[in-house]
Amino acid sequence: MQGFFARMRERFQRFMVGRYGSDQLSRFMLVIVVILVILNIFFRKSTVVFSILSWFVLILTYLRMFSRNIQRRYNENTRYLMLREKVTGLFRKRGPSAASSGRYEERRTQKGTMRSDAQHRIFRCPRCDQRVRVPRGKGTIEITCPKCGHVFRKRS
Ligand SMILES: [Zn+2]
Repeated sequence: MQGFFARMRERFQRFMVGRYGSDQLSRFMLVIVVILVILNIFFRKSTVVFSILSWFVLILTYLRMFSRNIQRRYNENTRYLMLREKVTGLFRKRGPSAASSGRYEERRTQKGTMRSDAQHRIFRCPRCDQRVRVPRGKGTIEITCPKCGHVFRKRS
């Protein structure tokens, strides 16, 4: 049985030589297919429309993956990525949680998921293991643990 799968995989790999394969756009299209299938389950009356649409997108997805016109598929994907960037950018600016990334970082820190970033480094207090966030690039500094008051030196 294992030999069978290995043979099938080899055959598929040979089939895919010189073909475009999967990309972000095709993954997005498969998500659309799944959504259409779910809609199909919920709206029984419009079942034909969603069925045709989901088959259409599914077939299109595979036609793209098996396409030999790699440059053209690549351009499609680039256009999709640019569009996606525009749309997510719109949401990032408008959304209620769209506060500056700095504020976002602050909220995360309050939750206890402290992370180091471009401006900060996280150290652990050697005595009590408390995480301490310090600004980056200040050389070797003395850090006072906010929890136990232990003072230690680290390179920021
Ligand atoms: Zn401490």
